[in-house]
Amino acid sequence: MPVAKNLAALSVALAAFSADFSGSSALEYTRRAVALGPRPPGSPAIGKLQALILAEARARGAAVEEDDFTAQTPIGPTAMKNIIARFRGTSGRAVVLTGHYDTKRMPEIHFVGANDGGASTGFLLEMARALAGRKLTDDVWLVWFDGEEAFGKWSSTNGIYGSRHLAERWGRDGTLRRIKALINFDMIGDKNLGILEEWNSAAGLRKLVWEAAADLGFGQHFLRSPSAVEDDHVPFLRQGVQALNLIDFDYPAWHTADDTMDKLSLNSFNVVGQVVMETLRRLERLP
Ligand SMILES: [Zn+2]
Repeated sequence: MPVAKNLAALSVALAAFSADFSGSSALEYTRRAVALGPRPPGSPAIGKLQALILAEARARGAAVEEDDFTAQTPIGPTAMKNIIARFRGTSGRAVVLTGHYDTKRMPEIHFVGANDGGASTGFLLEMARALAGRKLTDDVWLVWFDGEEAFGKWSSTNGIYGSRHLAERWGRDGTLRRIKALINFDMIGDKNLGILEEWNSAAGLRKLVWEAAADLGFGQHFLRSPSAVEDDHVPFLRQGVQALNLIDFDYPAWHTADDTMDKLSLNSFNVVGQVVMETLRRLERLP
């Protein structure tokens, strides 16, 4: 039974990393974040979400850091907080998985950001659950960014506040040199999942992820039509980090009151989660 034997070998290999990521759990975490309502920087709702993220990350055994700073925004100085959860490996190097947990400040509508802000939050919370207790070669660091969204109109100084702050700090203190790869997640929960071939991103890392997706049979969700998107990976790219943005930007409910839970699917979380687990496994084999 060579076929059965190969399948068994494959499932053993996958079990080393990918068996535990649960799309339904990621969706459930997202639902908890979205239930808090609009979560712009400095709001009471984002404070509640910070408490949830901190409690979950600590419960999973991660070393947790609160990276507090004050951002100069068009509405004045605003308190922000990145949250970093570190799972330790043995190599001294780190793979960093990031996403934003704030939602865009839109006082004129009830904007809860299920896909835009919610999905990246829930995805990383489930990643913490899936990584807990694993034997790792490289460290895996999870980062929830505050202040990804612009206050009003996006510009080079209005938006990606949290990632600009952290890339600058980690550049200064030498942390960036330890980073083997950084993958950012944004709007990955859409039912109709199509991840952009994001063109600012590091080509080698993008190729590795696209190959992992194809090998797992998820190639149809990883598009081959290049376009560039400014997101939280950019400040790291600018400092020479191998960084990649995974984003589905074909989303009709983007920045509208219709960005709600019914637009999401656990299958999309599952696809991205399995691909990332496989990518982590492949990255561990690289120097
Ligand atoms: Zn947005």
